[in-house]
Amino acid sequence: MSQDYKHLETQLVHAGEPLPRIGGAVEMPIFQSATYEYAGEGSYDDVRYLRMNNTPSQLALHGKLAALEGAADALVTSSGMAAISTTLLALLRAGDHVLAQDGLYGGTHELLRDEFPALGITTSSMDANRPESWTALLKPSTRVIYVETMTNPLLEVADLDAVVAFARAHRLIAVIDNTFASPVNFRPLARGFDLAVHSASKYLNGHADIVAGAVCGSSEHIARIRHKLNVLGGSLDPHAAFLLKRGMKTLALRVRYQNDSTLQIARFLESHAAVARVNYPGLESHPRHARAAALFAGCGGVLSFELKGGAAAAEEFSARLRIPAVAPSLGGVQSLITQPARTSHAALPEGERRRLGISDGLLRLSVGIEAPADLIADLARALR
Ligand code: PLP
Repeated sequence: MSQDYKHLETQLVHAGEPLPRIGGAVEMPIFQSATYEYAGEGSYDDVRYLRMNNTPSQLALHGKLAALEGAADALVTSSGMAAISTTLLALLRAGDHVLAQDGLYGGTHELLRDEFPALGITTSSMDANRPESWTALLKPSTRVIYVETMTNPLLEVADLDAVVAFARAHRLIAVIDNTFASPVNFRPLARGFDLAVHSASKYLNGHADIVAGAVCGSSEHIARIRHKLNVLGGSLDPHAAFLLKRGMKTLALRVRYQNDSTLQIARFLESHAAVARVNYPGLESHPRHARAAALFAGCGGVLSFELKGGAAAAEEFSARLRIPAVAPSLGGVQSLITQPARTSHAALPEGERRRLGISDGLLRLSVGIEAPADLIADLARALR
């Protein structure tokens, strides 16, 4: 990477982009080609083919992602779940054990709970706020500790420094899903994590028009994960790669704006008589506010809240909103609202959801880049 790209904003625009510019084009063209002329490549992994993750569109993204996360290397994948599953399958074998934070994204939770045991990989859930309880969960076969920067939808912030220290002390590979923070708000590798995975479908792309994933880390880890991705096949196609790279260029502008708007909206909701509880680590009332302030540059664009009227009120309220669409996903330019019990966490049994604090009436709002005043007016009207 050029030494001129010192700051994140410059890296977002220029890192990984081909120089000299192709045909003088200031935006890299879409390389809509599955295969490339043979140039004497010696190994299977080096043959230039879309599934081998080494075509121009993919390589440009690898360079940009590595720069943003301060990683030696990076890899893009066809979805966030492809990044997570391929990463874990590259790191783990039959007989291995994973320590995973309680309340992970539903897809990751299902992967660990329902798919991995058949491969001989087991998982123990850990309370990420109680480091003193982790040692008891360790096994001689524990290889990986897996957490999220902020949990979905309660925006819990684990003791991430303790996770890194624990991983070091017990020779575990520390993996973090950094989707909610994005590298604008948190850079896990600088804090000591080994690998950062992303659903690039969210903030990195930012426009809710593709699904994609990413993983960033050391050259050794990424080489292992790339080989696994080459055979599992979850590779990103050139058009999605183009959209992702274009979306990423405005990441810093979007996320900083969303940090500010979401705090304003969280404050509005917290002060409203119809609202029972707001979960946003940027609020002084959030139990992890001090930790989030110490770790993050901002708390991102997702908050969750409960209305005093419970599930029925939540449903009625969502239906009355005019700006946010009632739709799953997050991190885009458009505001979206969901009831996690029906979407991201529907796969969890009701008792498990209750234990985690995800009530049926909990609403999750992903704040887009609309004017916060318009969003607050819409929320206020729907609450009336
Ligand atoms: N990780 C987190 C935190 C998510 O919220 C999601 C999707 O909602 C994923 C991973 C999975 O990403 P994708 O939908 O791109 O496969």
